[in-house]
Amino acid sequence: MGDKQLKLKFWGTRGSNPTAAQNMSTYGGETTCVELRTANNELIIFDMGTGIIRMGNSLINEKNPVKDIHILLSHFHWDHIIGFASFKPVYIEGFNINIYAQKPETGSLKEVFEDMLHNRYWPVPLEKMGAKIQFREVHPLIFKINEDIAVEARPHPHPGGALGYRILVDGKIISFITDIEHPENDLIKSVVDLTRNSDILIHEGHFSPEDLPLHREWGHSSWVEAVGVAKSSKSKRLIMTHHAPDYEDTKIAILESEARKSFPNSSFSRSEETILLD
Ligand SMILES: [Zn+2]
Ligand SMILES: [Zn+2]
Repeated sequence: MGDKQLKLKFWGTRGSNPTAAQNMSTYGGETTCVELRTANNELIIFDMGTGIIRMGNSLINEKNPVKDIHILLSHFHWDHIIGFASFKPVYIEGFNINIYAQKPETGSLKEVFEDMLHNRYWPVPLEKMGAKIQFREVHPLIFKINEDIAVEARPHPHPGGALGYRILVDGKIISFITDIEHPENDLIKSVVDLTRNSDILIHEGHFSPEDLPLHREWGHSSWVEAVGVAKSSKSKRLIMTHHAPDYEDTKIAILESEARKSFPNSSFSRSEETILLD
């Protein structure tokens, strides 16, 4: 049930692949998934990495689980979609699951999921799942999920393309930008515009500033770009996510303290961290 307060919960914080390593467990080993629960108990989920699995288990154990689920997908890379087939609500009649994503370069959004659930890869096909699943290709880029929730999406550079999102709900602005590569020593202006005045800006900070130049065209950022976007957009709080798969907790803690020198109200997301917005 809702607690009459906007809530964010980080179920998946790791980039590229999940890890069960003990020395990475503080900042988290599940791949990208963030839950946004409105004051009216409406449910939006950013991405469906492995983090969505525990999110789903938690949801179905609620006393009166919310039945309408809205999933906003940044893009189709494995670490952002692989949790879908193990997200228990998809097997339960009565759940209405809406998946919003960019139109694929070829074929439809539904076909992406049919392919992913082909019996070569997974035993249960889409049409045998119990929930009502609706595929919504994001077009136009400004739309409403319902009367209370307004969304703006914009594409940004990443191999295969990705969408960033800005949500206006309960009088708050939440932005979600992951898997993004900014030009060297510059920021993508449309992303700064999209995230303008965010109460919470979630922006990836995958690589350290030292490792980023060694991985050009991998489609990622460091805390330097994340802080740059936070400052330029005049966002109030920055939470970085999609931690590099081999960075230990001790390393991320150092990156976090460096980022805070430049933008004090910033942090790297931790496993199952919950943030309440007044
Ligand atoms: Zn990713
Ligand atoms: Zn990606």
